[in-house]
Amino acid sequence: MKKIFTLFAFLLIGLSGCTAAPVPSTPAPTRQEFVFKNTVVSLTFDDGDADNYSVRSVLTENNLRATFYVVSGFTNSSGYMTDDQLRDLYNDGNEIGGHTLSHVKLTDVRGDDLKREVCQDRANLVAYGFEVTSFAYPFGHYDDEAMRTVIDCGYGNARGVSDGPEIIPPVNVHGLRAMPYIVSDTRLPKMQRYVTEVENNGGGWTIFVFHHVCDGCDKYAITLDVFMKFAQWLGEQQSNGLVVKTVGEVMEGQ
Ligand SMILES: [Zn+2]
Repeated sequence: MKKIFTLFAFLLIGLSGCTAAPVPSTPAPTRQEFVFKNTVVSLTFDDGDADNYSVRSVLTENNLRATFYVVSGFTNSSGYMTDDQLRDLYNDGNEIGGHTLSHVKLTDVRGDDLKREVCQDRANLVAYGFEVTSFAYPFGHYDDEAMRTVIDCGYGNARGVSDGPEIIPPVNVHGLRAMPYIVSDTRLPKMQRYVTEVENNGGGWTIFVFHHVCDGCDKYAITLDVFMKFAQWLGEQQSNGLVVKTVGEVMEGQ
């Protein structure tokens, strides 16, 4: 009796093993890959926050380069990247852009003060050894005098913080339009949609604006985990035709 039971159990296990085995058939349809023909993405980070350095390896691992807009008056102070860290990012192929000396609203300063905020900031970054052609307006605030100053200080382009996506060539290279700020509750699918919707609407230039990279340190923050997932997705989409470039590289191509 024991023998029969053992045989029965053996058969049962064998049978269940059989039913669990995959049945050879036509291969499962692969998920339709999104094809990009006319979409360019730029990843931009404002302020030169110390936590931004944590994305360095994520960018290189996914063959991506970003633009870091630096407030040079804060560089090397607590909470901000050092000039050595900026140099590391730059040497990886990332772009270093200007973001004023002390992060003032450019519509609040005039004349020599305005000039100093923009020109001295750029001079500091050039002195660190960077080629600096891109600027971002703090808080996105600018008027005619601010824009004129940015041009006079030698900037080839300047980014705002709204009204994106942009088109290529942009209507106003000193008023580049960006997607809404990435904030702590911006989810990955929304960021992906910012890219795919541009392609679906005929193409264009999606400029992302990041600030902090951390878990809960700030309202204007993305966690490193979400950024890693987004970077991995962007990296993969490059083989589907998506172009990811720094702001300076996009403008050079014009
Ligand atoms: Zn800023």
